[in-house]
Amino acid sequence: MQTHFSLTINGQQTGGDAGQFDVLNPATETMVASAPLASVDQLDQAVEAAAEAFKSWQHTPDAERQALLHSIADVIAANADELAEIIVLEQGKPMFLAHAEVTGAVAWTRYNADLPIPVDIIEDSEHKRIEAHHKPLGVVASITPWNWPLMIAIWHIMPALRTGNTVVCKPSEYTPLNTLRLVELINQVLPAGVLNVVTGQAEIGGAISSHPGISKIVFTGSTPTGQRIMSSAATNLKRLTLELGGNDAAIILPDVDVDAVAEGIFQTAFLNMGQTCAALKRLYVHDDIYDALCNKLVELAQAQVVGNGLDAEVTFGPVQNANQLKIVTTLVDDAKAQGARILCGGERLAGPGYFFPPTLVADITDGTRLVDEEQFGPVLPIIRYQDVEEALARANAADVGLGGSIWSADIDTATQLANRLECGTAWINGHAEVLPHAPFGGCKMSGFGVEFGEQGMLEYTRLQVININK
Ligand code: NAD
Repeated sequence: MQTHFSLTINGQQTGGDAGQFDVLNPATETMVASAPLASVDQLDQAVEAAAEAFKSWQHTPDAERQALLHSIADVIAANADELAEIIVLEQGKPMFLAHAEVTGAVAWTRYNADLPIPVDIIEDSEHKRIEAHHKPLGVVASITPWNWPLMIAIWHIMPALRTGNTVVCKPSEYTPLNTLRLVELINQVLPAGVLNVVTGQAEIGGAISSHPGISKIVFTGSTPTGQRIMSSAATNLKRLTLELGGNDAAIILPDVDVDAVAEGIFQTAFLNMGQTCAALKRLYVHDDIYDALCNKLVELAQAQVVGNGLDAEVTFGPVQNANQLKIVTTLVDDAKAQGARILCGGERLAGPGYFFPPTLVADITDGTRLVDEEQFGPVLPIIRYQDVEEALARANAADVGLGGSIWSADIDTATQLANRLECGTAWINGHAEVLPHAPFGGCKMSGFGVEFGEQGMLEYTRLQVININK
C-alpha cells in the first residue's frame, strides 16, 4: 500500500496547504498514514476546476461517458486488493467485507454506465410536441461518512458523472485515504477537473455547504450535520440529497421458523459491526418465540471471531472510532442501569483497538435510550411484544424512517404490514439489502431524495422542457 496520499485538483496531485492530519487504524490505535488538510483556497480551486471541466463534460457524447464509466470500473477492479487493504486499515472492517465493498463499487459503476438517460415525451400531437430532457446541474459536491467510505463515494460520484455533472468529493476525516486513492486512480481515465477530491476536518464540509459555485450536495451522514448543510445550502438554493441517520425496526411474527430466520436477522443487524445506516436496530419479537430466537442469536454472536480485519479468520472488526465507541458504551451502560439483561457481549474488550463484541440486550423496551436513539454500533436490543398492532405502532414511533422489515411465513400478511411501516424501504424476510436498480432513501428525519435506479440518477439532473409548435 502507498504511504503518501494527495488531493486531486484539476487532475494534479497536490498536498494540503493547511497541513496534514493523522488517520488512525481502529484495530491498533496507531497511525495508518497522514492525509492532506485542504485550505478553503484549495476548495475554491477544486470547484473552479470542476466548473471549467463541466463546460465540455456536459456535452461529451453519451456513449463516450458510458465507455469512460466502464473504464473507471476496470481501474477499480484492477486495484481491488490495494483499495480493500486501505479500507481495512483505516475503517477497521474485516478483509472479506472490504473486498465486498470494492466489488460493490465496481458493480454500481457498471450499472450507472449502462443506465440510459430518458427523454420524456409529454405530448406528441399533430400540431405540438413537448419533450422533457434531463440536463446536468453543474458542479456536484459529495460529502461522505466513515462506515462504507468507498461504496458511498461511488454511489454519489457515478450517477453525477453519468448525467454530465462534474464532482468535488469530501470524504470523512476518519476514512479519507481510500477516497484519495480512488480519485487518483479514476483520474487516470477522466479528463482533468471532472473529478476532484479535498480532505480536511468538518470546516471544509462547512465551506462546501455555502459555496456559491456548487449546484448540488449529495450528503450521507448524521441528521444534525444534514440539518446544518441544509441551512447553509440555502445561500444559492443548492439541490440536496440527504441520506441521514436511521433506527430501523424489524417485527418478527410468531409463525417464522426461528432457526431459518436467525442468521438473516443476525447478519443484517451486525453488518459492518452494526455501523450501517439501514442495519436492523430494534428487534420486535413475538412473545411465543422470544426465548428461542434470543438463544439462536446468542449462538451466532458467540461464533464471531473478533479481531484485526487483516487476519483472514476474523469475521468481526472494531468500532471505527473512539467517539462512536463512547456512544455505544454509554447507551449499553444506560440499558444495564435500566435493568436490561445482557445476553452476550456488553463491554469493550481490553485494548488496544476499539473492539466491542456483538452484543444482544433482552428485557428492554421503548423509552430506553438504546432503543430510542440511533446507536450505530454492534448492539441489538430485543423487544418483546404480544400484539402486532402494538409492535407496528412502536416501530413507527421513531422520528427517523430509513428502513424497516417484517419477517413471517405468511407473505400476504407481511406485505400488508410492510405497507404500513413508515420508512423509505420495507423489506420482507430480509433487511438492509441495497441494490443498484432499487431506489433507496429515507423519510422523516432520515432525509429526502433517493439514490440508485433511474430515479436516483435523475436526482443529478434538472428538467428542460422543449415545447415545439409544428
Ligand atoms: P457525520 O454527519 O458526522 O459526518 C459525515 C460527513 O459530514 C463527514 O465527511 C464530515 O466531515 C462532514 N461534515 C461534518 N460537519 C459538517 C458540516 N458542518 N458541513 C458539511 N459537512 C460536514 O456522520 P458520520 O459520523 O461520518 O456517519 C455516521 C452517520 O451517517 C450515521 O448517522 C448514519 O446513520 C449516517 N449514514 C446514513 C446513510 C444513509 O444512506 N442514510 C448511510 C451511511 C451512514
